[in-house]
Amino acid sequence: MTELSGCCKLGGERMAQAFAEAFYNSSAWRKCRAAYISERISIDGGMCETCHEEPGYIVHHKIRLTADNINDPDISLNHAHLKYDCLICHNREEADRSDPDRGYFSADGDYIPYPPLKEEQ
Ligand SMILES: [Zn+2]
Repeated sequence: MTELSGCCKLGGERMAQAFAEAFYNSSAWRKCRAAYISERISIDGGMCETCHEEPGYIVHHKIRLTADNINDPDISLNHAHLKYDCLICHNREEADRSDPDRGYFSADGDYIPYPPLKEEQ
């Protein structure tokens, strides 16, 4: 099982796209992600930036990465475009911007089709 290291593996296609796979395996991203998490820990202990109730779990790209922008460090490696989310908030955000017939990968790496996390109050 591979550790989840970025959001595009969660929100998009059933299989991670090759360009995203390469990016998430790159040392540049790993360093960027680790630095961002350290920064968040120094700010508020590393809590989720959305709900502030759960510890952060995943570094989310606020701008969806594509083959066109993933190699642009001003986008893909820019802390200003990152957000530290817990899994629930992250999946909710991905659900909001994904096609409804898509799914996401759980923390265990299982593929779960939408819609699991829309508000149901
Ligand atoms: Zn949260």
